[in-house]
Amino acid sequence: MENKKEIPYKIYLEENEMPKQWYNVRADMKNKPAPLLNPGTLQPMKAEELEAVFCKELVEQELNDTDAYIDIPQEIRDFYKMYRPSPLVRAYCLEKKLDTPAKIYYKFEGNNTSGSHKLNSAIAQAYYAKKQGLKGVTTETGAGQWGTALSMACSYFDLDCKVYMVKVSYEQKPFRREVMRTYGASVTPSPSETTNVGRKILAEHPGTTGSLGCAISEAVEVATSTPGYRYVLGSVLNQVLLHQSVIGLESKIAMDKYGIKPDIIIGCAGGGSNLGGLISPFMGEKLRGEADYEFIAVEPASCPSFTRGKFAYDFCDTGMVCPLAKMYTLGSGFIPSANHAGGLRYHGMSSVLSQLYDDGLMEARAVEQTSVFEAAEQFARVEGILPAPESSHAIKVAIDEAMKCKETGEEKTILFGLTGTGYFDMVAYEKFHDGLMTDYIPTDAELQVGFDGIPKFPGNEI
Ligand SMILES: *Cc1c(COP(=O)(O)O)cnc(C)c1O
Repeated sequence: MENKKEIPYKIYLEENEMPKQWYNVRADMKNKPAPLLNPGTLQPMKAEELEAVFCKELVEQELNDTDAYIDIPQEIRDFYKMYRPSPLVRAYCLEKKLDTPAKIYYKFEGNNTSGSHKLNSAIAQAYYAKKQGLKGVTTETGAGQWGTALSMACSYFDLDCKVYMVKVSYEQKPFRREVMRTYGASVTPSPSETTNVGRKILAEHPGTTGSLGCAISEAVEVATSTPGYRYVLGSVLNQVLLHQSVIGLESKIAMDKYGIKPDIIIGCAGGGSNLGGLISPFMGEKLRGEADYEFIAVEPASCPSFTRGKFAYDFCDTGMVCPLAKMYTLGSGFIPSANHAGGLRYHGMSSVLSQLYDDGLMEARAVEQTSVFEAAEQFARVEGILPAPESSHAIKVAIDEAMKCKETGEEKTILFGLTGTGYFDMVAYEKFHDGLMTDYIPTDAELQVGFDGIPKFPGNEI
């Protein structure tokens, strides 16, 4: 019998224990995620086509379904050392408060200035852009976490960073904007007069407050029409899940050190990058038949891509300039209600997670906003951390599972991803405290409007 060590409140790793390679779960998937398609020809996107938009080495990672491990370049590992390892916390205080026999752990990614896990991929994408000799990158940001992370990464590598920020967020979250400018990024409210697509949208919809889909179209146009620039994206893509595997790898190393094996692994799912990263090494074991785990994706009931979406090829953006991806989708024309978890308001989902879900290897749950904020507050009051609304979706289901254990007396071990802090979301907390928060659940008829916009071609029936 193994000698049971006492589990500390926080489990950290030594520098020499940190992962030196990312793990690519696609290598162990029997059913690979479907390739991106060129929307004009409906043929798989070739590397050369993708390289007009994305950095060369990132395209290689995007298309690599075979190498299980990919080296993390030394420069990226050096940057990771500034804020990693992130702590794996045993939620002793929450367990006590819930009076549950469950053992709850969370991996906290909010311990850096950008306040979320997005920095893990931002630094990798900036590194490959710099290595390629580019001048800069363009991107979009909705709630602002991705734009902030990318600004930090670009300033580290002395790259120019142009961020198209959804106009409503630009106006409502001026402090996020100032963080980005502090790190040297230029931030343009979208839609703007600086691009053809922006001018067209403004002419058609004067006074529009913008959308993520529109900001993507502007950022892609600027990247492809400016020499020395490429476009980068903070979620959904295979390469982003690959970079985020550092979350799961660190968790697994820390848990293995103490002989802990999680029964249930939970994460919130917007485009799927933090969840994909957290579960990847554990899912790898499941795929290889070495261990079994229960995986749960948590999404807002107002934007239920997994639980009510269709598994089909669809556009990644509203402007329909990006390739088609096969994923669980609500249709690129679906406009989610103004839920406060901005990072989870995306119509689609990572192709990797979509395939795993379709193969029955993971579950998904949709939860309502006010119950999420109740869980957030309960968590904040005992664990101290003020969680992001996105992250609180995972807290909600972790608490639900712990309460089930209380009923059955089972001592399950639960691991969830706490993706970030919520300091820029205090307007949402204020609405919750004032009793003004609502739970909007789209009707089937409303979802049908989005489904009607999914492209129709042979093999893509929904
Ligand atoms: C962006 C974001 C998410 C959702 O994105 P994924 O790609 O699904 O991980 C979750 N939490 C926070 C704090 C975010 O910033």
